[in-house]
Amino acid sequence: MKQSKLLIQTFREAPRDADVVSQQLMMRSGMIMKLAAGIYDYLPLAYRSIRKFQEIVREELEKDGCQELLMPAVQPAELWQESGRWSFYGKELLRFKDRKGGEFCLGPTHEEVITDIVRKNVRSYKQLPMNLFQIQSKFRDEIRPRFGLMRGREFIMKDGYSFHADDADADREYWVMFNAYKRIFSRLGVKFRPVEADSGAIGGSFTHEFHVLAGSGEDAILSCDACDYTSNSEKTEAPQVPAVDHGAEQPLSKAHFHTPGIITMEEQAKAMGLEAHQASKFYLFRASKGEDTFDVGMVLRSDHEPNPVKLRNLLGADVLELVPVAEAEGLSGAQSGFIGPVELEKIPMYVDRSLEGAVNLSCGANQTGYHHFNFNPKRDLKLFKGYFDLRLGVEGDTCPRCGNGHFQAFRGIEVGQVFKLGTKYSKSMNCVFLDEQGKENPMVMGCYGIGVTRTVAAVIEQNYDADGIIWPWPVAPYQVHLLSLDAANPDVSEVATRLEKELEAAGFEVLHDDREGMSPGAKFKDADLLGFPLRAVVGAKGLKDGIVELRDRRTKEVRKFAPEAMVAEVSAARDRILAELREAGGR
Ligand code: ATP
Ligand code: MG
Repeated sequence: MKQSKLLIQTFREAPRDADVVSQQLMMRSGMIMKLAAGIYDYLPLAYRSIRKFQEIVREELEKDGCQELLMPAVQPAELWQESGRWSFYGKELLRFKDRKGGEFCLGPTHEEVITDIVRKNVRSYKQLPMNLFQIQSKFRDEIRPRFGLMRGREFIMKDGYSFHADDADADREYWVMFNAYKRIFSRLGVKFRPVEADSGAIGGSFTHEFHVLAGSGEDAILSCDACDYTSNSEKTEAPQVPAVDHGAEQPLSKAHFHTPGIITMEEQAKAMGLEAHQASKFYLFRASKGEDTFDVGMVLRSDHEPNPVKLRNLLGADVLELVPVAEAEGLSGAQSGFIGPVELEKIPMYVDRSLEGAVNLSCGANQTGYHHFNFNPKRDLKLFKGYFDLRLGVEGDTCPRCGNGHFQAFRGIEVGQVFKLGTKYSKSMNCVFLDEQGKENPMVMGCYGIGVTRTVAAVIEQNYDADGIIWPWPVAPYQVHLLSLDAANPDVSEVATRLEKELEAAGFEVLHDDREGMSPGAKFKDADLLGFPLRAVVGAKGLKDGIVELRDRRTKEVRKFAPEAMVAEVSAARDRILAELREAGGR
């Protein structure tokens, strides 16, 4: 391919609102353009990488017998009403009406449509299991689209769904897909981890997310340094920190202690001369479950952070949010900082298990300027609901699984998720099969997603330097960037064009920078920015000595040889690069 004909424009600077590396580099290298917030054009170079990744996904899924199909992006409301998600799915679901007034949405995911297809086409246990997938543009009206392709509103996803006669078979397939995902991300040579993740209020027995590790990742991951336990911090089981002995229980008392400007309970504790473990802190949450809305309180040690996801799951709530400060102050009758659980007698109170056995704590007394001392949660809370694991795990915590290691913290980009769905959709949508006895049963389902465009961006988040992208071979838009220096020189253009053809004939993908009237420096800069694995250079000076060059983008190693050796040299470099990648894959 001749670069003079390629649809591409490179930029020295990234747009101001590009705040992660992949977005900056993809925009600077002319791979993507922003059409609207969270909606991007995938220009030819980007689309080549995207298609290559799609091919990897297809190959690995087809090895496991998955079948590809393509469902409509536009989905009728009726299906979503049947599953119950029409009212439950929030504003991320873009809904609209057609000219006849029929209600539709743009698919953010396809459980309803696939369940409809399967219920109409599969009758017997003999047809099960079945695993179907598609690769398609999804639309989610994200509240904060950002980070380029990492959190778009329109993005490409691989979504797969499997259907089974029983639970055990769904479990088996879960691990088949888990391993397929490991192969898929290993092939990219990126560092990734499968992590245990929250399966939300819809329960489901288990789910893993696959995360590419990168500082720009939106998720916090904790991984034990001694065993395999790796989890999204939303889900991480926090170890129970043993309560410190605070002596014999004293009666609850109240004292004035006003330190203007100090808001957090941890700071309050310090100002009051208490150790963090002698002070408690309190959060007031509002939960909704179906039509029901109710307030609940969470009590924690002052130096621990709350994990609302744990409380939401414990309550089986659909949504759990902090009560707005003004409202909480209204309920309490005190300023924020002095709100506490004791007087809020009508509110059920959930206490973190690291406070089990702790007595004589401090807490806000619901009167501005006042605190309680000698607070004993179990004794003093009218609607005490018990001690539970409610806090966020943190780096350094002892691993509750093995009891030996400690958590290390990472940032991760969620590139995929495998999920055991159970019968949620098959029951609500009557997707049933006849078993061997001729009895009707709901199918057991699994679902499996990969963020295709997000993965391509995540690859860049792990593979770049100050000069630009460093593409791993398998998803590089082209493998060889062939630069003609002094492109107008007939000798150069003759040799370069010949090499382009020879390399292509040998199966390599070549972008030939044949642009005339450009300085070598400008071409080198563009080549580094675009970051294909190998850069071949043909220049008038070198040709005089019978020499061309090949440079490895990652190692910067340069080899010089006669033009006739180009194909052999490129082949050897590819073999070396792929061997290194196999070693790096999954590390
Ligand atoms: P997130 O927690 O990041 O919002 P999710 O858990 O809601 O993602 P899933 O429903 O699991 O996403 O979708 C499957 C995959 O699609 C995700 O693992 C992710 O890689 C990708 N994905 C989800 N939302 C986006 C988005 N807004 N932009 C790009 N990719 C996305
Ligand atoms: Mg997910």
